[in-house]
Amino acid sequence: MSRIAYVNGRYLPIQAAGVHIEDRGFQFADAVYEVVSVVGGCLADEEGHLARMGRSLSELRMPWPVAPAVLRQIMRQVVARNRVRNASLYIQISRGAAPRDFRFPRDPSPTLVLTCRAARFQTPEQLQDGIACITVPDIRWLRRDIKTVGLLAQSLGKQAAAEAGAAEAWQIAPDGTVTEGCSSNVWIVTAAGVLVTRPASPLILNGITRQSLLRLAAAMGLGVEERPFTLEEAFAAREAFISSAGSFVLPVTRLDGRPIGDGRPGPLARRLRQAYFDHVGAPDPVEAGR
Ligand code: PMP
Repeated sequence: MSRIAYVNGRYLPIQAAGVHIEDRGFQFADAVYEVVSVVGGCLADEEGHLARMGRSLSELRMPWPVAPAVLRQIMRQVVARNRVRNASLYIQISRGAAPRDFRFPRDPSPTLVLTCRAARFQTPEQLQDGIACITVPDIRWLRRDIKTVGLLAQSLGKQAAAEAGAAEAWQIAPDGTVTEGCSSNVWIVTAAGVLVTRPASPLILNGITRQSLLRLAAAMGLGVEERPFTLEEAFAAREAFISSAGSFVLPVTRLDGRPIGDGRPGPLARRLRQAYFDHVGAPDPVEAGR
């Protein structure tokens, strides 16, 4: 069965779906996006993702192409038409097609695209053994809090990771602190057992999974510090993990070829991952799929 995409009011087989060659998303990366995981049919953290999309749009002075309530219906339609239970749902809004000009078109007609793809999220081995990460310099622009499709730096980082046999690249600021992964937020657990993750600022994307985990960690009574941490601190950590819509909470057991902690996934990552799926209201699809 062909995958079904949504483009500006139409549901189409993905091969037949397309946008204009002068779309500003294509020409200028003048577009924002969200990725929502569908877990056992549940749209994980849907509210948070739509709230962040609204924020990204308003930071770029872009209008909603449809009301958020209508978008929710389209999201459900795309999931239903693709007949998926575990999937990655992608939503992109661009400022639309206009004759190429850096300045905004006077009367924009935004492009709305949704696609959906069945996902396994992680392999059981990745969950059991943790993943390897590398580090790369953070070479991005300074409005990383806006979730735009300008992802070339992240693409280069992920490619370098893949070529090194790693699953993710941690981006390192000029001051030696860790900003975030290429498509995830990063967390460490100090020797004293405190969870540390970088505070929200224009230097990182404020992950929706990150925000949920902060609330869950507080409810669990865990010690949390939102502060920048250095690569040296990460090497000395007891545990490390990444969070994102697709990785949820995924232990990091090697960084630049060095083991983190005892080189095995740690208990806090395991507990937070479980707490996250309890919050979503669906079982861990990786555990369930074993
Ligand atoms: N940082 C970056 C740079 C990302 O691309 C992502 C994934 N979109 C995240 C963090 C994690 O965000 P979320 O939990 O909302 O998926």
